[in-house]
Order: sequence, then structure tokens, then C-alpha cells
Amino acid sequence: MKVIWQNIIYSRLLQCDVDKQKIVSLELRVVIPKVVTNWIDGTEQTAIADEVFPKLDPATGELLCQGVRSQTADIARAVLSAKLAQQDWAEIPPVQRGMLLHEIVLGMKAHQPEIAEIVAAETGKSYRDAYGETGGAIALGLFYASEGQRLYGRTTTSGTPNKYAMTVRQPLGVAGLIIAANTPIANVAWKVFPALICGNSAVLKAAEDTPATAWIFGKIAQAAGLPPGVLNIVQGYGEEAGAPLVAHPDVAVVSFTGSTAVGRIIQRVAGDRFARVSLELGGKNPLVVCDDADLDNAVKWTLLSAFSNAGQRCASASRIIIFDAVYEEFRDRLVEKTKQLKIGTQDDDDLGPVINESQLQNMLAAVAEAKAGGATILVGGERVNSPGFYMAPTLLENVPPEAEISQCELFGPIAILYRVKDFAEALALANDSPYGLTASIHTRSLHRAVRFCEKVQAGVAVVNAGTYGSEPHMPFGGLKRSGNGTREPGTEAIDVYSELKDIYINIDPNRL
Ligand code: NAD
Repeated sequence: MKVIWQNIIYSRLLQCDVDKQKIVSLELRVVIPKVVTNWIDGTEQTAIADEVFPKLDPATGELLCQGVRSQTADIARAVLSAKLAQQDWAEIPPVQRGMLLHEIVLGMKAHQPEIAEIVAAETGKSYRDAYGETGGAIALGLFYASEGQRLYGRTTTSGTPNKYAMTVRQPLGVAGLIIAANTPIANVAWKVFPALICGNSAVLKAAEDTPATAWIFGKIAQAAGLPPGVLNIVQGYGEEAGAPLVAHPDVAVVSFTGSTAVGRIIQRVAGDRFARVSLELGGKNPLVVCDDADLDNAVKWTLLSAFSNAGQRCASASRIIIFDAVYEEFRDRLVEKTKQLKIGTQDDDDLGPVINESQLQNMLAAVAEAKAGGATILVGGERVNSPGFYMAPTLLENVPPEAEISQCELFGPIAILYRVKDFAEALALANDSPYGLTASIHTRSLHRAVRFCEKVQAGVAVVNAGTYGSEPHMPFGGLKRSGNGTREPGTEAIDVYSELKDIYINIDPNRL
């Protein structure tokens, strides 16, 4: 019976009663609402102040939809709903919580094409890439649904006779989740599934550039039977909707994926009230090409790491460090291949637009400044396909490692080539960064590969592939300004979203 009921719910899921403005796909009839609402207490709600903000289509620059502009009062409402729902949610055994999360995963699977359509429409990436990203989010959800069976504590020995020592995991309470727009459905899954499996309720602040992706996830979660209030989703700007969530005294853990600048504020504000904080921040990731590298493979992975998803990955490669002996050959092959990249939103295109106009303007300004400082633009460097937010894939050389553009994340399709004489210089340059998220080396030498993995200052080290591509069951996170030492997802995310309690049980054998 349950299955039939679920099927009816899912088939009704997208026939929503909202004002239908844009039909993303005629075949699938997926609709992005004209006004994308909050999900609070299991219902769709507009903002109390009744204001909205515009969400533009990155591929055209035209209005795609509007999001409700939540502010402090809306956040208070969402946190209260989460707080009231949390204790009942925590009473459900983790195995059963996992079964409910599994229902959400089934809903995502049933609606993978529709989710992908929305992700593609909001980000400007191709449907193929959006579908793959949704598959990654589903895999992550599956992993955490099963973690309900493995919320392990520890049993150990005691120094005292007739005493037993163990730990159990307990939820923290309300989780405040704040995410970026670059891989929107993966980012939602990355935070929501581990937070909920641990018995927390959550308030998710969607990225303002991808409101409908979070909204459709909320719709699927409600249809799957998630109790009202366990997951609340709020739309809005960072300073208006994100900041009050971080400051709210009833939010026990703040998990944030976004820029280092905002992460610093969150660390300070949430830290001040002793909330737990998990920060997944930016990167300026090195990809090293040694003189013994397979150059075809190195070119392939440099292109993917620097330009796929329009370079909007925390794990993208933006510093390409090349041994002197192969510098010219590698550079010329890379430039040639970069010129062949196809820009657009179709499945056979290589990269789409960046997420908004202001991101694009930041990049253009950074490239102009680098050029004024003596940088050579090997390819790209300009806006294309206006009025969409397209940045041409860009390669620079003759940039000092200490220059602003070498040290700061741009979060777009821009990479800089550096020449080094040997392994020691390559490693030193790789580590000469305020960030430490991911790194890759291309070499046929086992000695170089292992040494690099040992010594590079990064949370992820890769041999002979790209700087991105972390798997859902593996911990991800960075050193230095790339994070605060936590790791999500993997089983390690359980440490972010749960509290350990020691339990000692004393017995008296004389009272048997
Ligand atoms: P951003 O920091 O500007 O925004 C991220 C989120 O924070 C958005 O939802 C935004 O509304 C919110 N926000 C902004 N100001 C806030 C405030 N004062 N208080 C609370 N919330 C606030 O980042 P972005 O430009 O949207 O995203 C790109 C950044 O995200 C890059 O630095 C990228 O490397 C990083 N990122 C990191 C990871 C990772 O896992 N390490 C993954 C994806 C993206």
C-alpha cells in the first residue's frame, strides 16, 4: 500500500498549484514557480514582509523567477518550527530515520530529470552535467540513509570493577545550513542528509542564485513523508536571511559552504555564542605537471579541472605548475585545446556561464589588473555571448606567485601557468597559498607522487587526474583558509552533526 501511495504522491508532486511562469521542459512539464517560496513547517510560505528578489537566468541575463526575500522574522519562524519538530524527530530510531531519508532519495531518483532541468535552468550548466550532479546527490543521500544503521558509539573497558564505559551519539538540536550555488542540488544533499540522520532538524538557507533547486528538494522531502518542521528551507540574501540564522541562539550547529570572507564572519558570530561551526570554504588549487607526465592526460585533466562547471568549483585548478623541461610543449597543447572548447548550455558544450553578473565583473577586473601588472593573456580574458554571464576560458602566464590574482580565488574559468625548475620548487609553489583545499600531480614517478601526497598542504591530494571529483562517502575539506578543520561528507560528517555522550553503567554483583 505504501508504495502505491508514494507513487501517487510523486506523480502529483510537480503539478504544483503555484503560478506557472516558465515551463523548463515541455516534455517533462517541470515548472519553476514565478515566486519561489520558503518551506516552513511543511508548508510553502512567502516572506512576512512580502518582498521578493530577482533570480536571473545566467544564460540570457533575463528574469527566470523571483525568490521570497526572507529576513530576521522569517528566520525566527523557521527556527521555531525546527525547534518544535526536533525532539520528536530525534525520538525516531536512527534506522527508521534512515528509511524516511531513503524515501526522499527515491523521490529524487523518480524526479532526477526534473531536478536536473531546474539545476540546468538556474545555473546555466548543461542538462547532462546537471543530471550527473543530481546523480551524485542521490548517491550521497543513499549513503546517509544507510548510516542510520551505523551511528556507532564506542564501548571500552573501565578501570573500576563492575563498571562499563561506552559512548553514544546524540543530535545537537537545530542545524543551520548555508550553501553556495555552484553545484546546488549536491550542496543541498551534502548538508541536509547528514544533519537529519543524526536526529537534528534543520533550517537550510538556499543560495540566492539557485532558489528553485532547494525548493524542489523541499517539495520532494514533504511528499516523501518527512514530518513538518524537520526540514525548513528559507530563501533570501546572505546578509538578510543567512546572518540571522547564524546569530540565532537556538541554532546549535552552523554548517556553511561558501567563500572564505563570509566563513570568517560566521566563525566569529557563531563562535561567540559557542555554536558548533563547520566551514567548507574556497580554494586556489594547484595542478603540477612534471617532466615525466603523460602530457595528453595532464592537458585533459587541466582543462576539466580549470574550466568544467565554468570553473565554479571550490576544487577547480587555478594554478598550473609546470616543469621547465615541458613548459612550452604543455602550454602550447593546452592553449590549442582551450581554444577548441565550446561555450554554451547544450550537452555537447564544454562550459556555460558563471552564476551572475557581479561574479563575471570581478573576474574581468582581476584579469585587467593582472594584465596591467605584466601578465600575458594566452587565451580568453574577455566576456563572450553577452548578455548572458559568460567568461571565456582564460589562461594567463607571466604572473608572479605573490600577485593578487595568484593568491585570491576567482571562482571562474581562469587559470594561471607557472614555470618551475624541479619537484622541490613545484611543491614549494603549490604550498605558497593562503588556501589548502585540493591538489593534483601528474607524474610517472611513484616517488614524486607519494612525496607530493605527503607534503602538499591540502585536504585532498590526487595523482594523475583532476583537482576535483571527491566521492560522496569520502571526507572532504581543506587546510588553512579553506576550512576550519571539519570534514563533510563521509562518515566524518557525523562528527559535525552529533554530540558524543559518555555513559558509565555500574552494577553491584552482590544484588543479583
Ligand atoms: P558566498 O560566501 O558569497 O555565499 C555563500 C552562501 O552564504 C550564500 O547562500 C549566501 O547567501 C550566504 N551568505 C552571504 N553572506 C552571508 C552572511 N553574512 N551570513 C550568512 N550567510 C551569508 O559564496 P559564493 O560566492 O556564493 O560561493 C562561492 C564560494 O563557495 C567559493 O569561495 C567556493 O570555493 C566556495 N565553495 C566551497 C565548497 C567547499 O566544499 N569547500 C564547495 C562549493 C563552494
